[in-house]
Amino acid sequence: MRQVRVIPREGDAREAGGEHTVSGPDSVADSGAWHSLEAAAVLRALRTSPEGLSEEEAQRRLEAHGPNRLPEGKREGPLLRFLRQFNDVLIYVLLAAAVLTAFLGEWIETGVILAVVLINAVIGFIQEGRAEAALASIRKMLSLEAAVVRGGTRRTVDAETLVPGDVVQLESGDRVPADMRVIAARNARVEEAALTGESVPTEKAPDPVSEDAALGDRSSMLYSSTVITSGRVTGVVTATGGDTEIGRIGALVSETQTLTTPLLRAVGRFAKALALIILAFSALLFAFGYFALEYTVNELVLIVVSLAVAAVPEGLPAIMTVTLALGVQRMARRNAIVRRLPAVETLGSVTVICSDKTGTLTKNEMTVREVVLPEARFEVTGGGYGPEGAFVQPGAGEVVPPPELLELARAGALCSDAEVTQEDGSWHLSGDPTEGAVVTLGLKAGFSRQELQRTHPRIDAVPFESEHRFMATLHKTPDGGRVVYMKGAPEAVMRRCQGDASGQPIDEARWHGEIDALASKGYRVLALARHTAPPNHDALEESDLEGLELLGFVGIIDPPRDEVIQAVKTCQEAGIRVKMITGDHALTARAIGAQLGIGDGKTAMTGRELERLSDAELEAAVQGCDIFARSSPEHKIRLVRALQARGEVVAMTGDGVNDAPALKRADVGVAMGIKGSEATKEAAEMVLADDNFTTIEHAVEEGRTIYDNLKKTILFLLPTNGAQALVIIVPFLLALRELPVTPLQILWINMVTSVTLAVSLAFEPSEPDLMRRPPRAPNSPILSRYGVWRVLFVSVIITTPALLLFDAYREALPLAAARTLAVNVLAAGQVFYLFSSRFLFRSSLPPQGFVGNRAVLLCVALLVLLQLALTYLPPLQLLFGTAAIGLELWLLALAAGVGVFVLVEAEKWIARRVAGGTGPRA
Ligand code: ATP
Repeated sequence: MRQVRVIPREGDAREAGGEHTVSGPDSVADSGAWHSLEAAAVLRALRTSPEGLSEEEAQRRLEAHGPNRLPEGKREGPLLRFLRQFNDVLIYVLLAAAVLTAFLGEWIETGVILAVVLINAVIGFIQEGRAEAALASIRKMLSLEAAVVRGGTRRTVDAETLVPGDVVQLESGDRVPADMRVIAARNARVEEAALTGESVPTEKAPDPVSEDAALGDRSSMLYSSTVITSGRVTGVVTATGGDTEIGRIGALVSETQTLTTPLLRAVGRFAKALALIILAFSALLFAFGYFALEYTVNELVLIVVSLAVAAVPEGLPAIMTVTLALGVQRMARRNAIVRRLPAVETLGSVTVICSDKTGTLTKNEMTVREVVLPEARFEVTGGGYGPEGAFVQPGAGEVVPPPELLELARAGALCSDAEVTQEDGSWHLSGDPTEGAVVTLGLKAGFSRQELQRTHPRIDAVPFESEHRFMATLHKTPDGGRVVYMKGAPEAVMRRCQGDASGQPIDEARWHGEIDALASKGYRVLALARHTAPPNHDALEESDLEGLELLGFVGIIDPPRDEVIQAVKTCQEAGIRVKMITGDHALTARAIGAQLGIGDGKTAMTGRELERLSDAELEAAVQGCDIFARSSPEHKIRLVRALQARGEVVAMTGDGVNDAPALKRADVGVAMGIKGSEATKEAAEMVLADDNFTTIEHAVEEGRTIYDNLKKTILFLLPTNGAQALVIIVPFLLALRELPVTPLQILWINMVTSVTLAVSLAFEPSEPDLMRRPPRAPNSPILSRYGVWRVLFVSVIITTPALLLFDAYREALPLAAARTLAVNVLAAGQVFYLFSSRFLFRSSLPPQGFVGNRAVLLCVALLVLLQLALTYLPPLQLLFGTAAIGLELWLLALAAGVGVFVLVEAEKWIARRVAGGTGPRA
């Protein structure tokens, strides 16, 4: 784990320090009055200091107090979860069938139906468990980390290892990992809605408050699960896990998500509606059969039961859930962590992706390439964060840095929080890469941070925030004076300068020319400035941030990620517009955009230009512009709204705490896993584990694949149910007294054959043209008119050979053998239809229909074994009323299967012809 020496700042330690003896933590904890004690007293009572606990002591306390984990909300017990599997209309239909058959004394039927119900429940139970485990492991990938100070060294640890007495540093966007007493704070505001329900952020400070203050008024405390909305704060942990306020009241933010999406719910509703229709239809058949066709009640009950069993797609909801869970797991393996399942479906219909630039489209490995001073310009050699590199002056070659350059380099190194350290021979950065670049520039100029911190100790700082785009620090100088250094975006810094370091007034035209020249190369530009403050000055005031002298500019290169160029292209081919939204300069953004294929290389809109547009004007303008520069979080929300008003489905990335509302508003909010704040992760539907744009493209691809596979499963299963229903209805209406397939055999086909085969579609890889299709229209029905046609067509062509062959062999064979033939013909039809179902419209002709998904071949092989067992094993023969059949009958079944395949492929061919391209929407 990377370690960083903590620079004790006077401001940070204002209330802290002191001896630490006195009583153990628990005596004061019991009084629950941490908020009313002085910070130093709290540290003493917890036997800790601003330097934190030692690693050994932390370990000891962890053993004593247990992990900092909130008690889990009440989970449904396994028994209840198992029983819930029976609470389903589809299962009720089967149970009713069991009761009816029992009533008639058909005990074998009753037994098998009940066995099927039981097996169905067990499978549902296991699969639900697996799916939930998959989701839980994905949630684990999002576990909370905390920056803790131990033995004077700051390190990042898993928040579950925090113990009372740990000193934790938090900044805006962080979720508070435990209950803490504030020991230092700067502009700290915290949203405590999770605890108090109050969504307006409250200010936090180290000063004690009265002992009887209510929870919401304890400004000296931070409570677990609340969110820092701005500023920085350091706190000492007073309670962890179940001892925290939120743990005690048990009002847990339940992270469990239900295993469902709008599509799955729609399918569930569809299946239920179907079950009801089937019941009504069965009743009609019953009446018709009794009065018009003169069947006996016993015969009719059997037929009606068969029909109900045949037509109800019992397996469908479970298979859909598995398909979804497998897909989500696949996405997690590709670094896209889905927090809310419905996002999987929305991803498939995304039409615009709005992406941050830094770190998402670019590598976020920053190096200063150019330095511009009032009277000179230098190029800087050397890459990465190592100190190797030199200053080269155009025309003069390598030079010794002059004093003005040294002062700029010193300013940059001092006005930064990042650390670069050497580990195993290579240089590593801890902190913000932009700052890493200027710290490295300092190293190249000969300044080590440790040395600088000794000669110019920091007294105070205004941290960088994207809103004001600068950072300022106040330092002691070796001669006892005070100096202010500032670095930031050129506009933000120049506005506060009254002249440059050479004593001249700011030459706006010249400097803007320089900035534009740097930005046009795709460089991030930072301005650096300084200001001498009065001696004995101990805090930065607004007046210190005015009248500075401009030291110069640095141009920082942040190369685009190579793989993003292809990902952007893939998105564009898939009908998805990619837009860049960045805090950087418009020319920088445009240049990087041009390298990545985003935008037209000419158009860019700045935040200020955007502010001048009305909503309607923005709606019109947003279409023609793909680069938005100098934008802040409010601009992001307006952009999302404008795009959505145009009917676009928007995915939007974000990292800062203020991005959360825009992510919430977007159709798919995407948070950064590495540099993103907790607040954005919580607002997001999806988190990128690697912060990389390419991962969004992969997620879209997986989202489309999952949706395709769900659709393929439906289009596979429904016709099989249709065929089973027809196999009963047709002979019934023809008043043939012998059923070609018995209710039990139907049950076998329904539960064993169809389900065994359909599961393999969950493993179907993406179709090759997947990312060349336009996005799916949101709200498009699961089953289009074309889909309904496909279901009816396939139902008929699977049923027909089964009925014809049964009829043809009824005389020549015993009834059981003829029925076995019919069952195997139905199974063969399904096997071959499975190969056709692998592609919605593309041809499944060999070889492509038979390779590429091993699961399909495995399932088919398994099914062949099952069918052989059904045909030849005496116990199964007895149970299901089957009988052995000869080879020529198997060949007939095979031929029937091939016939189904040929017909479906011909139908797909015609559909492709009629609709053109990839075929109609299924
Ligand atoms: P993107 O949205 O592409 O990720 P960003 O969010 O990184 O960009 P900001 O961090 O808001 O953009 O930076 C905007 C500008 O602020 C930069 O162009 C730079 O000039 C300045 N800047 C960035 N980081 C710092 C810093 N640590 N200190 C001072 N100024 C900075």
